[in-house]
Amino acid sequence: MFEKLKKYEQLLQRFIEKGYNFSKFSESITTKKQLLLRHDIDFDISLAHEMSCLEDSLGVKATYFFMIRSKSYNLLLPENVEIIQSLKERGHQISIHFDPTIYEDFFQGFQWERNIFEQLFNVKVNCISIHRPIEYFLGNNDFIDGIRHTYQPIYFQDIKYFSDSHGEFRYGHPLDSQEFLESRSIQLLIHPIWWVTNQTNSINILTEFVDYRIELFQQHIASNCKPYQKYVEGIRANQTAVNIGKLVA
Ligand SMILES: [Zn+2]
Repeated sequence: MFEKLKKYEQLLQRFIEKGYNFSKFSESITTKKQLLLRHDIDFDISLAHEMSCLEDSLGVKATYFFMIRSKSYNLLLPENVEIIQSLKERGHQISIHFDPTIYEDFFQGFQWERNIFEQLFNVKVNCISIHRPIEYFLGNNDFIDGIRHTYQPIYFQDIKYFSDSHGEFRYGHPLDSQEFLESRSIQLLIHPIWWVTNQTNSINILTEFVDYRIELFQQHIASNCKPYQKYVEGIRANQTAVNIGKLVA
């Protein structure tokens, strides 16, 4: 298992030992012993799969929020649809990670995304998360098209909120908090990109991820274009020759 993922496992185990209930955002929220475990999927859906398998092994459930129009992944890719359906079948919640900044009228944009998501995965969306929320949404109690969002006061002010944004808990570690000590309800935002890795430094994590994506994209172009395939094979053969040359020298 990835080193960082082991740390995530230990983190969840502490919540389990403390008797926390892993709650859905659609449940009524009380001040005691609820953990709202949230995953915003900003970069890669396969990382969500890895994370969910670990959660399954611990017998806990999370809510996964996906972008419909991400520049980082294609939600409709068959393997991505399969992962999201599998999350749902295994009892995790699935919903929309909404980026309001791409719309002139975000309300209309959300209605459009909601229709797509609900039809595609045969679910009723009941709470969304917002990608890089502008000030407007923080603590704003307004529903969007009748739907809750994760920055409403019941999830964001009435209970403690922790996030691993930028690859660390910048406002204190959840396990060191008074709220955890007193078994108070917590919303915990975890981005799989920071945990499904062996790297520790956030720049190294992202650099490794970008390299992995370049490799995948090269394979994709090569398998759809013969001249590029030959070009890539040529580079690899050349690299091998250089490496063998080094060994001989
Ligand atoms: Zn996001």
